[in-house]
Amino acid sequence: MLAIIGTVACVDMKRAWVLATIGLIGLLNGVLGALLAAEREAALRSMVDVAALATANNAKHMDEVLEIVNRSMYMVSEFMRASERIAGLEDVDIHRLLVHQHRITPILRSMFVVSAEGHLRYDSRSSSPARIDLSDRDYVHHHLSGNADILFIGRPVISRISGEWVVPVSRRIEDRFGRLIGIIAAAIDPEVFFATLHASALPNGMQAAILSPSGYVFGCLPKSDCLGQPAADWPLFLQQSPAPGAVAASRRVSVMPDVVGPGAYEISPRYGMIAAAAIRTPDAIADWLSRLPAYFALDVVLSGGGAVLSAILYRQVARRRRAMQDLAEANARLEQRVAERTAALRCSEQRLTTFLATARDAMLVMDGNGTVQFLNPAATALFGYPADDVIGRNVDMILPGLSNDPAALSGSGCFDTHGWSRQGSGHELVARHRSGVEFPVELTLGRSDSDGEAIHVGVLRDIRERKLQEERLWELANLDALTGLLNRRAFMERGSALLEAGWRLGSPVSVLMIDADHFKAINDGFGHQAGDDVLRALAGILGSAVRSGDLLGRLGGEEFAIILPGTDVSGAEHVAERLLADVRGVRVPVPGSRRELTVTVSIGISVSGRRCRLDDLLAAADRALYVAKSAGRDRQASAA
Ligand code: GH3
Ligand code: MG
Ligand code: MG
Repeated sequence: MLAIIGTVACVDMKRAWVLATIGLIGLLNGVLGALLAAEREAALRSMVDVAALATANNAKHMDEVLEIVNRSMYMVSEFMRASERIAGLEDVDIHRLLVHQHRITPILRSMFVVSAEGHLRYDSRSSSPARIDLSDRDYVHHHLSGNADILFIGRPVISRISGEWVVPVSRRIEDRFGRLIGIIAAAIDPEVFFATLHASALPNGMQAAILSPSGYVFGCLPKSDCLGQPAADWPLFLQQSPAPGAVAASRRVSVMPDVVGPGAYEISPRYGMIAAAAIRTPDAIADWLSRLPAYFALDVVLSGGGAVLSAILYRQVARRRRAMQDLAEANARLEQRVAERTAALRCSEQRLTTFLATARDAMLVMDGNGTVQFLNPAATALFGYPADDVIGRNVDMILPGLSNDPAALSGSGCFDTHGWSRQGSGHELVARHRSGVEFPVELTLGRSDSDGEAIHVGVLRDIRERKLQEERLWELANLDALTGLLNRRAFMERGSALLEAGWRLGSPVSVLMIDADHFKAINDGFGHQAGDDVLRALAGILGSAVRSGDLLGRLGGEEFAIILPGTDVSGAEHVAERLLADVRGVRVPVPGSRRELTVTVSIGISVSGRRCRLDDLLAAADRALYVAKSAGRDRQASAA
């Protein structure tokens, strides 16, 4: 399931990543495009500014040029107006004035006066000019038509005298009554206009022109064959009638034919000369266009680099994402396993709890220091403590000395297949009940090392009953039922050990064989019960007479035997004498009668001189006993 979700998420992520990358590259291209557009716009605006500046300068210069010419002509005009009243003023004076004015105005090719009839009358280049009819010239026609006395800027023409191109400008000359008496005209060298245009230092590709208000070309760049051409069909004239002082500048003006792009024109305020400059848009942005391949390459590099970077990043992110997914899946599997293990453990714990709670054996758990960590109900019942009173306390509280019992706590051997070791098959020790009563228990300890710490699990069994049974069995096997003394078998067993020990130590061991005298007569005379009483009385006397370390037993019937370790024959005889006396003094009541019985015994003594068997010693003592009997009884005899 996780894998399917992961795959779907992966596909979605890939699509989103691709879209984001495309978006980013698009954004990058957009920004780059905006930058390019802004740069293009700046280039166009720069050209507009250049054109505006050039046209402003040129227009101003035109006014200055024409003002100079106008002033020169005005001087002549005023002179001629006044000449009517000045006596003696001759033609030669007017000619001189023309020459002077021409000389101080170097931009002129000539200055001349046309008569009111339209013929050339005075010329700065000739004191006697030919009578040339100029009535066909536009400026002559203009002034003859009676227009006001203002500077007229004529159409460029080829001089009939010099054959050169000139630009005629002219004024009316009136007498004091306002009547036309002539026309003062100046032929401006067209080079002035070209020089003005050249001085503008226009950028490559920009075209510039100077036009007359009447719509003729006075100069143009970079072409120079435009002089005198009519400009009435130029867009400037088609769009609006030129008015002095008008200024226009824009990214896209149509000033000159076939030049669409940034440009400007300005009309000089005084004389209405038109200065225009414009550049075709492709020329205006030529630099910008030349940088386009570099921009394109940059765009390709950035876009391609961005795409590659994005792909690398995607691989990294996808790899990390996959790793995270793998981790999450592994984690989920681990969690599932942990959950399963936990459930199994809980189940196992429940089983264990049930087992411990219902187990008849007491169980406890303690750490390596003997601190109790757990007790089951059987254990609390066994010791009489609530579990909480014992948990956390030392185990010595209920099993005194166990925590210091290395034998109990550090055994070895296999307990089971889960790392437990078991200390022997059971360890008997004394337990202490809450009441203070001590009782025997059998402890079986299992040990496990968990994380380097020992854990001991003990199973306790109350063995009081078993101990009693064992004791009873032992008594049955080893004691005489009538007297409580050791029976023959037990006597022989222990006696042999004493004999062996005495031989090893090199000390003598004496054996006393004791037999009641005429016992048959007691049985016969007073009953078997009385006989038993006498036997018990004899056992009591003998038992109180022997020392600890001596061994007393009933060998059968009315025969008893005593082994005295470390006692030689004289010591044994001394003991025998004391016994004889003690027995003589005993009085045994007869059941159902007021009578009391007396009894005597005879004693045979033997002493181990060399290594020998107990049977042999007893046989020797028995022979000595026979001697004592034979000698009259109630006495002792020692084996020779
Ligand atoms: P002696 O002085 O020579 O030893 O004579 P005695 O009568 O003591 O010897 P004997 O061997 O003839 O008799 C032993 C008697 O002891 C025979 C038997 O009935 C009796 N006797 C053996 N065991 C018991 C017992 O457990 N209880 C009683 N009351 N009598 C027993
Ligand atoms: Mg006997
Ligand atoms: Mg006897």
